[in-house]
Amino acid sequence: MTQVRLTIDGVEIEAKEDATVLEAARGAGIYIPNLCADPDLEPYGACRLCLVEVDGEEGLPPSCTLPVADGMVVRTDTERVNTVRRHVLELLLSDHPSDCLLCAKNQRCELQKVVAYLGVNQPRYKKLEREPLVDYSNPFFNRDSEKCILCGKCVRVCAEVQGRHALDHYRDGWLSRIVTAGGERPIIDSLCESCGQCMAKCPTAAIVPKQLAWPSKEVQTLCPYCGVGCGIYLAVREGRVVGARGDSESPVNKGSLCVKGQFGLDFVNHPERLTTPLIRRNGKFAEATWEEALDLVASKLAQYSGDEIGVMASAKCTNEENYLIQKFGRAVLGTNHIDHCARLCHASTVAGLGQSFGSGAMTNSMEEISGAACILAIGTNTTSAHPVIGLKIRKAVKEGAKLIVANPREVDLCSIAHIWLRHRLGSDVALLMGIMRIIMEEGLQDKAFIKERSDNFDAFKRSLKAFDLDFVEEVTGVPRSLIREAAKLYATTKPASILYAMGITQHTHGTDNVMAIANLAMLTGNLGKPSTGVNALRGQNNVQGACDMGALPNMYPGYQKVDDPKAIEKFRKAWRCPLSFGQPSRRTSRRCTWSEKIPC
Ligand code: SF4
Ligand code: SF4
Ligand code: SF4
Repeated sequence: MTQVRLTIDGVEIEAKEDATVLEAARGAGIYIPNLCADPDLEPYGACRLCLVEVDGEEGLPPSCTLPVADGMVVRTDTERVNTVRRHVLELLLSDHPSDCLLCAKNQRCELQKVVAYLGVNQPRYKKLEREPLVDYSNPFFNRDSEKCILCGKCVRVCAEVQGRHALDHYRDGWLSRIVTAGGERPIIDSLCESCGQCMAKCPTAAIVPKQLAWPSKEVQTLCPYCGVGCGIYLAVREGRVVGARGDSESPVNKGSLCVKGQFGLDFVNHPERLTTPLIRRNGKFAEATWEEALDLVASKLAQYSGDEIGVMASAKCTNEENYLIQKFGRAVLGTNHIDHCARLCHASTVAGLGQSFGSGAMTNSMEEISGAACILAIGTNTTSAHPVIGLKIRKAVKEGAKLIVANPREVDLCSIAHIWLRHRLGSDVALLMGIMRIIMEEGLQDKAFIKERSDNFDAFKRSLKAFDLDFVEEVTGVPRSLIREAAKLYATTKPASILYAMGITQHTHGTDNVMAIANLAMLTGNLGKPSTGVNALRGQNNVQGACDMGALPNMYPGYQKVDDPKAIEKFRKAWRCPLSFGQPSRRTSRRCTWSEKIPC
């Protein structure tokens, strides 16, 4: 992007041509007081505190909505702008309590910061009296209109980022206030999803958490709940978690969190949480030291031979931990009986996408979802199970993307879907084959992609014969006209992205479902390009890593098969230990034969 040069307060700086003066000043470390601007939100220009002087202009434009221009000369800290700012601030303060010492946001309040910067010491205007609106109905945060300065950040973040529109401005002039959309009702009865983003953006104490304790430090980590893996800063005080905020640098969530990540981490402090090993003695658990516990476990494990032992890894642990546990299982205990939760949730993804594309992972990044022109969300209740990805879908739809939801349940996404295919449970393959048959009949397939980038197309084409629309309609329960509409929409609106989750994989024929999805993307050439692809929404924040590290019975790290002599030799050398069980024993063989049936 082209850069422009401008001067702010005598300093010559460079900025992107689409930046505002406020953004350019921020980038150069120049503070301009403001209360309604936020890097994550659209410019708004409501608080009138970021006014600046610009050479050649008579008025004082707000810098948050003023685009930069080459050669522009801006002054941010003159007597003229500060006089107007003080006046604006005094009017704001006429409607705001001044008992700062007793306020929950004391010393962390943006309003306090601006008051201090502009040096407003004496209230000039008589306090306005009006009925405050307090709302304690949300289980996680309280709202108090008396502290509200009507900056609109809460309304905007709920609409622009959360896509929820649960809050709105109500009335004009001094009667103006923030209410739940559609009227003054408790927020618990509104569309609010309790994500807490309005609370995180509020510059004053108008929205504050119910459990309020200022931390002594913050610890950067990942949310432990779902497969999105949002970046989080945990607020910690005296060894206890007292809050959380989204990591704005995280490429995954860019500061957003859902209710689970924002408010659901106090289990860490639960008094019943195990913090020390327990050993059963005389039928009852008794506390033990780690040395005692580890000695006991080691002596018990030594009583069993390799294939009598099973090892469970965890998709909530790091790559290093998963690598170690599978190595411990294979190199020390002598077993390939190693597994983790992917066995249930996405084994069919590992198998199906491995067969179709050579790798069982999302083909595109989460960030690309917002750029799709068409999204097919099948077998996923995204806004509940992977809420921050749900935000990306809502954003895409808001920006014009078409959304097709295929789900037997009326999940939340149905409310913004252009087409909802309510197929019967277990009829995914029939539905997808029906869609693909229509795409072929209508000639909407991507012939160049099929020819240049795929194999075995003729066999696939033959298999479509079994899925005429009479059969598909009967099996799925979806009218053929709707299937046709969905097929045309997906095939002609590019780039198109497919998202799926456990509604696809947790079936006895989950692998077939996954491979049918992969075929659909290939048929339309929606692969290997931005905002396209086949995107498995996985259950835990490191389920991909646990699979990659070989926490699977049939795979060494990097999906190298345990019965491949070359792979066995490679790991034998690397780990300097015998892996003679690499050719599975009779019992192991049964497991691996089953895995081999799911083409890995
Ligand atoms: S908590 Fe989230 S959904 Fe609820 S009002 Fe605030 S931003 Fe909107
Ligand atoms: S509640 Fe907070 S974020 Fe919302 S308008 Fe009032 S001060 Fe701004
Ligand atoms: S979307 Fe998932 S990872 Fe992100 S905050 Fe919510 S539960 Fe945690």
